Amino acid sequence: MKTVYSELARVRLGHTNARVAVLKVFLDRPTQHLAVDQVFGYLSEPCSLSTVYRALSNLLDVGLITGTSIGGGRIVYEFNRGVAHSHLVCRDCGRVCDVDWPVSTEQYENYARSQGYSYLNSSLVIFGRCPKCSGGGHR
Ligand SMILES: [Zn+2]
Ligand SMILES: [Zn+2]
Repeated sequence: MKTVYSELARVRLGHTNARVAVLKVFLDRPTQHLAVDQVFGYLSEPCSLSTVYRALSNLLDVGLITGTSIGGGRIVYEFNRGVAHSHLVCRDCGRVCDVDWPVSTEQYENYARSQGYSYLNSSLVIFGRCPKCSGGGHR
């Protein structure tokens, strides 16, 4: 079973209270996409917002979580399940869904290399308006 401590040990990241608390939020919700304020709201012990930002950036650096920009300067974070995937985002309410077809990053990687870049990662975001926001379906 994945625990906060085993995950931090795996990436050799020290466990500060904030990292433990923040990572626990993601481990408890492994398929959810969370904005910073949501992470903040789920914390089991109080941390300052700046501490949460710092912990998020540490966890991003070591690849335990991933961040996706969903436009308008908003970023959502999720537990890194090791599967590259694209996202479908509602421009109005910010709802984020995983796109469940496999992503081949080879092309992106080759392109980056051809430009003399070392490849880090890539993410594709499909923007739209969800059924609720477009007024179709049930309200
Ligand atoms: Zn929506
Ligand atoms: Zn996702």
